[in-house]
Formats: sequence, C-alpha cells, structure tokens
Amino acid sequence: MNTHTIKRLPVDTGVSGWEAISTRSAPVRMLDGNVSADWLIIGAGFAGLSAARRLSQLRPHDSIVVVDAHEIAKGPAGRNSGFMIDVPHSLSTGEYSVAGESATALEIEQNRFAIGFAAHAAAEYGMSAHTFDPSGKINAAATERGLKLNLKYAKSLAGIGEKHELFDAAQMREITGSHYYHGGLYTPGAVMIQPAQYIRDLADGLAQKISLYERSPIVELTKAGAGWVAKSHTGQVSAPKVILAVNGHIEDFGHFQGRLLHVFTYASMTAAYSHDQFSRPATGKDRWALLPADPMGATVRKITENGLSRIVIRTKFTYDPSITVTPKRVAAIAEEQRQSLDARFPELKDTPIEFSWAGRLCLSRNSVPAFGEVEDNLYAACCENGLGTVKSTLAGVMAAELATGTESAFLQRFSQSPEPSKLPPRLLTQLGVSSVIRWQELRAGKEG
Ligand SMILES: Cc1cc2nc3c(=O)[nH]c(=O)nc-3n(C[C@H](O)[C@H](O)[C@H](O)COP(=O)(O)OP(=O)(O)OC[C@H]3O[C@@H](n4cnc5c(N)ncnc54)[C@H](O)[C@@H]3O)c2cc1C
Repeated sequence: MNTHTIKRLPVDTGVSGWEAISTRSAPVRMLDGNVSADWLIIGAGFAGLSAARRLSQLRPHDSIVVVDAHEIAKGPAGRNSGFMIDVPHSLSTGEYSVAGESATALEIEQNRFAIGFAAHAAAEYGMSAHTFDPSGKINAAATERGLKLNLKYAKSLAGIGEKHELFDAAQMREITGSHYYHGGLYTPGAVMIQPAQYIRDLADGLAQKISLYERSPIVELTKAGAGWVAKSHTGQVSAPKVILAVNGHIEDFGHFQGRLLHVFTYASMTAAYSHDQFSRPATGKDRWALLPADPMGATVRKITENGLSRIVIRTKFTYDPSITVTPKRVAAIAEEQRQSLDARFPELKDTPIEFSWAGRLCLSRNSVPAFGEVEDNLYAACCENGLGTVKSTLAGVMAAELATGTESAFLQRFSQSPEPSKLPPRLLTQLGVSSVIRWQELRAGKEG
C-alpha cells in the first residue's frame, strides 16, 4: 500500500495586496466528513483550477473535487505580479534569452496556448479589464546595461519575427511619470491580470462544476485499490484519479525530491492614492506594467480603479529549501522596496506601503516542469519555473488531458520534456544558488 504522509504544509508569509483588494462571492467551505468523487485535484492555484476547467470540458458529467490548504487566492496564485507572458522569458539564465529557433517557437506556442485558455475562461466568466487586461508589457531599463539588454532582446525578437517597439526615456516618462527609466521594450502579447481576482473569478466560474474545499490541507494520501484516499484534519476524499497541483510541495508528496529549487520573491503594494494630490502626473497613465530589463531587477505595476491608484513592486529572490520565510525577512525587504519606489516616484514618498508579502516559486535546473503520471492514477502538474500564471495553466490543462487519455499533438510534445534534473548535494546547492542570486542582484544595480 502506498501512503504519503505530508509533514510540511504551505506557509504564506505576509498579506498579499492583490488578495486584500479582491472580492470573493462564495463563503469558505472546509472538507467535512467522507466525500467521493471521480476526480480529486489537490491545490487550487493556476495549475489546479486550469486542470479543473479542462476536466469539466472533457468529462462534463464527472464529479470533480478541488482542495486547497488555504483560502483561494491567499497562496502564490494570488500574490504574484500578474504578468502572463507569451515571449521567451527564462528566469534562470539571468537574461531573457531566445533559445534555438525550434525551442523558442515551441515555448511561444505553449505560452500563447495557455494565455488563450485563460482568455476563454475570462470571457466566459465575465472578468473585467481590471482582472484580465491584454495590454502587453514593457521591459524597462534604468541603466546603460539595461538598455543594452533591451537592444539585444529586441534583436532576437526581430530575428524570430515577434512584434516589439523600443521606447526612449521621454516615452517612458510619459507612460510612468518617472524620470528613472532610460528606455523600454514593449511587447504586445502579454496579458496583465489582477492575480487574486482572476483566481477567485475562475473558481466562481467553475462553481457549478466542481466542489471546492478550502482551509483543508491534505496530510495523507493513500492508495486504495485502483484509486486514492486523501485525508485532511476534518475529512477525506476518495477518488479513482488524483492530480497534484501543489507546485514545489510535490516533494512533500514523495515525488521529485532533490530535483526542485525552492525560491521566494517579494512584493509590496502602496496604499491607494488620488492623482489630484500631485501638481503633475507623477505616476503617469492609469495603468502600466514594467518588467525589469535585467531579470534580477524590479517588476513595477500601476493599477487604477474608481480614480484611485496603487503601485506594486516586486524585487529580490532568495533560495529557501525549507519553503518558508519569516515575517522579519518580508519587513526588511519591504524597507528596500520603499527605497526603490522613492527613487522612481519621489512624489509618492508620503504614500505608505500598505501590504508586503513573500511567495514561493519552484524552479528546476533544466527549466522543465515536474509533470506526468507519477504513480498509478496519480498525476503531477507542478514546478512552474517562475512563470506559473502561464506555465502552470498549461501544466494543469495537460494533466487533465493526460489523465483522461485525451490525445493531442500538444500533449505529446509536452509529455516529451525530460524530468527535472538532480540537484547537487544540499549544501552545495544552497551555496551555489544563493551566491548566483546575490551576484546577479549586485549586477542588476539600479534596475532593482
Ligand atoms: C511576488 C511574486 C510575483 C510573481 N510574479 C509572477 C508573474 O508576474 N508572472 C508569473 O507567471 N508568475 C509570477 N509568479 C509566480 C506565480 O505566482 C506562480 O508561478 C504560480 O502561482 C504557480 O501556480 P501553481 O498553481 O503551480 O502553484 P500555486 O499557485 O503555488 O498553487 C499551489 C496550491 O497548492 C496548495 N497546496 C500545497 N500543499 C498542499 C496540501 N498539502 N494540501 C492542499 N493544498 C496544498 C497551496 O496552498 C497552493 O494554493 C510570482 C510569484 C510571486 C511570489
């Protein structure tokens, strides 16, 4: 009998501003008593809910249960910066490189497929433009090096026929109100989401087709006949087939151990402010979205709703194999984020930061997902390599197709990706990853 005892549960440090300003329509329901279903999905982030939506399309009469350890949108799915990116965007290389022609074409095709899947859901469930905005994004350069990185990236995008536009400092100032940026590289295919609202709207849209249990961490998963029984502290679910959509926590279910890198990144959101309080358009247009030209720099977004704006900044990466970070760390990084904001938007110096938080990423050394049938009737859609709004959406859809025996050329190619490669011994990995991150952050300088 296969039994997995899950000893380590997810910890979400700090309150995500996205989650705090989003709304939910249904009350929280915890797992209670014994439940049976045709399908169980563990994890209600991008991967889990996308798997649920695809299953509901492929098997409309089957019962689908989704459980999450926490409340929906309180985890990483509701605490990211909301860039759904179509063009190549690899975090591990330190540059947004374009790989070989066929690998790049496949990556773009897969990213656009995932964005298309999300776009259908957004349209079907009536998500607003504040939640799902196909606005594109700008890679912003604050240094000479950043400008060079943008030029290099623009050249490689031109080489593969991808639309893009270079902005100069004056155009960046007009968009953002800030004198900080020397230039930008706009690509039109990205969709900007309000991540917490997107996840909540997705769950609401699926409400008639799934049973969702929140605050119900799975602490034991046991093979029972051909299927599985998953236990929380308050109940259990029996299902013939289970999809694990828990990202890096797949290790705690006994799979891909010693193959996944657990990295955290950090964000802060200002309090809401009105444009009327400034004598000039100090933060530019109502909405904009900046990725750093150097991937180790700061991601900055502005949102405006009902005349009130907020700025959200994400910086820093830390390697934390324990998959937990302290509130003290979040507070220390929030101080640095305050300085990054002040350097960009001096007029905002009296606008407080209202929310600061940390969130998990899962990377593999060879940038591949932890995907497939890992035991009989147990499927994994995990390890998003830092771009889970898109990659986990895709992995969830693919896991639903794999588990239902649905054949597609897309699935065939997705399934061909190799396993995450083994990591060196833990101490070496800790030293290696931490020093690479530190060195890349120093090199990023003013981009951060
Ligand atoms: C600050 C920040 C900024 C980011 N910016 C971006 C961005 O702009 N674009 C982008 O694409 N990505 C971004 N990311 C990454 C993105 O948030 C993740 O890649 C994405 O959330 C992964 O989705 P997922 O569904 O695979 O996993 P998750 O969203 O982590 O969902 C997994 C779920 O599994 C649940 N779970 C785990 N263990 C158990 C258990 N034992 N029982 C029950 N449930 C369990 C967790 O509670 C969690 O809700 C960012 C992340 C952070 C933190």
